[in-house]
Amino acid sequence: MNHTLFTNRSLLTLGPGVSVRQLAAILEPKELALPWGGCPGVKMGGYLQGGGEGNAQRVLGLGLDHVKGVDIVLANATLRKNVSASFHSDLFWALRGGGGPGGNFGIVTAFHLQPIPNPAPMGVLYFGIAVAPGDEALEAAERFFAPSPVAFNGHLKIVLGPEGGGVGIGGWWVGDLSEGHEFLDSLTAGLSSANSSIATMSLYEAGKTDFDGQQWPNNVALAGSHSLQVIQRPTRANLVAMLQAATTAPPLLASLGEAKLFTFLAGDKINEPARNATAFVHRSSLADMTIGFVLYNGTSQATKRLATEFDRWALTFYNDVLISNFGAPLQAAGPFEVYANYVDTSLQQPLVRN
Ligand SMILES: Cc1cc2nc3c(=O)[nH]c(=O)nc-3n(C[C@H](O)[C@H](O)[C@H](O)COP(=O)(O)OP(=O)(O)OC[C@H]3O[C@@H](n4cnc5c(N)ncnc54)[C@H](O)[C@@H]3O)c2cc1C
Repeated sequence: MNHTLFTNRSLLTLGPGVSVRQLAAILEPKELALPWGGCPGVKMGGYLQGGGEGNAQRVLGLGLDHVKGVDIVLANATLRKNVSASFHSDLFWALRGGGGPGGNFGIVTAFHLQPIPNPAPMGVLYFGIAVAPGDEALEAAERFFAPSPVAFNGHLKIVLGPEGGGVGIGGWWVGDLSEGHEFLDSLTAGLSSANSSIATMSLYEAGKTDFDGQQWPNNVALAGSHSLQVIQRPTRANLVAMLQAATTAPPLLASLGEAKLFTFLAGDKINEPARNATAFVHRSSLADMTIGFVLYNGTSQATKRLATEFDRWALTFYNDVLISNFGAPLQAAGPFEVYANYVDTSLQQPLVRN
């Protein structure tokens, strides 16, 4: 399930057990790229069927946009090789976005992908900006959601809990480097609490830096997440409500876990294919927003209690603040209009596992 085969430079066959980190390592020596996601251990099986989001997605698109064919064993034990735009196109449509945790149409045995030449001359500015809670955090959040060049790819993070409400903006600038420095400076201009780091690197190094930053401790209890799509630019009032409510989350001791509201910018390359070109639900999104929380020491009673308490809070925050309070600007278009690659919003009990 983790086999790889290059037919030529424009076609790579991969087993569903290949991880994002392995994929990056396979492509690097050939100077090819794909918009890999940020978490090194995620495997192609769920990642490509559910979407495949990453820190270069406004400019490179989604992982699933580079899938040209799929080999799959159907429920009646038939192997369909190279399901594609011209062979069982309905199944091909469903497998790109509707698969993974969102649905299961059979057992995928291989993906046929078209990598892109590594846009090396472009270069990447790998950036992180932290802004303290209060008016400056609000200002930074507003600047993040304002119209921006397509080279600006990244996410807004809000730490949840009584000590939260601060804002982090991180990601990659993929394009002209001096324009990038100018733009990133404009995000923090006049904000005295802003703490920024910017490093210049290649597309591969940016991927590796993301992977290396994702070191989860052992014994993680993934408590859950809730997602929705952002289809209109939020107003200042929307952002004030969100930042204030973020601080009402139950306190998480740093040793027990972390909780964030995480918003990935979408748009551009993701919006280019027609809304119904694949089963992926965020074609028309400006951004997608996820409340995510990860707890450590999954076997301890304290963690399990906290997971339950936090999950209850997160669902109320989702319904009363993000959906109801934000009203039209942050609107899920229907019950299935969530990012399929994260835990279902209607989970009644948190998932606690070792
Ligand atoms: C810490 C973390 C970080 C993440 N970061 C990102 C990110 O940056 N970008 C992003 O897009 N996503 C991200 N995700 C979401 C991730 O893409 C999904 O969780 C994905 O489903 C993982 O796929 P998997 O094959 O590794 O997992 P699994 O748990 O093995 O599979 C998930 C589901 O996919 C289906 N599936 C898997 N393999 C097959 C197959 N061969 N045939 C048919 N169905 C199959 C099954 O229904 C299965 O239940 C992240 C998840 C986590 C936990």
